[in-house]
Amino acid sequence: MGRFDGRVAVITGAARGIGFGTAQRFAAEGASVAILDLDESGAAEAAGRIELSDGAKAIGIGCDVSNSTSAEAAVTRVVEELGGVHILVNNAGVTRDNLLFKMTEEDWDMVMGVHLKGAFNMTKAAQKHFVAQKYGKILNLSSVNALGARGQANYSAAKMGIQGFTRTLGIELGPFGINANAVAPGFIATEMTDATARRLKMEPEELRQMNADANPVRRVGFPEDIAAAAAFLCSDEASYITGQTLYVDGGAKLG
Ligand code: NAP
Repeated sequence: MGRFDGRVAVITGAARGIGFGTAQRFAAEGASVAILDLDESGAAEAAGRIELSDGAKAIGIGCDVSNSTSAEAAVTRVVEELGGVHILVNNAGVTRDNLLFKMTEEDWDMVMGVHLKGAFNMTKAAQKHFVAQKYGKILNLSSVNALGARGQANYSAAKMGIQGFTRTLGIELGPFGINANAVAPGFIATEMTDATARRLKMEPEELRQMNADANPVRRVGFPEDIAAAAAFLCSDEASYITGQTLYVDGGAKLG
């Protein structure tokens, strides 16, 4: 008996990294999963690597979350191909880092478009199914960098925006049996942080070690750390928790 037997979970930006780890965890606990990512073949390939529980399915769908038509079409396909939708994880993300005086309007719009508008588009598309069935779980990816980060005016604003969005979803959707929460990861070893290392002209391993040394628990995080928190917050054990942001960062910002 898994916590997500009979449930269908949609995870955006899940062809790799935290999204893939979360999809794998939900599947391990019984869910059918829809892996959404920009490139349909990459999403399908990732879906093929998911280890499924008996009777569950995994599908990959090409979707640009920043485009409302694409988001709407993806949710419709999930319902048609997997028979419903119960959990939405708004995970898709990009970075376009630069100091404010060098940050372009395109850098700003791109980050807002994927993180904030993407979460809005996907949540709008999913909530009508959730409201009709009086059941749904929404999990949004914020970040410790919501609290401020040099070179990330766009990302930081988007990730703090996600927290306000999450609180508002909690208020508006609670009466319909829907919980909305956020996780705010610290440094997680993925392609995103490896790309940051390369931009800083460091080896990925060097940046990981630097972050591990500075962290109270003396290690970096892995997608599985976020997946574990995501599974709890999207489970019925967390049905009295809504509108919250849980920092999963090894205590990185404690002081
Ligand atoms: P990642 O490895 O870069 O994966 C992000 C995925 O999102 C990629 O597969 C990417 O596809 C996809 N994506 C980008 N734009 C998209 C769009 N418009 N529509 C659909 N998919 C899109 O990142 P990650 O580290 O796993 O991060 C996942 C989430 O956690 C993000 O929201 C990130 O901001 C957040 N987070 C990460 C960390 C960390 O340390 N890693 C810390 C805090 C928060 P392409 O490869 O085709 O671009």
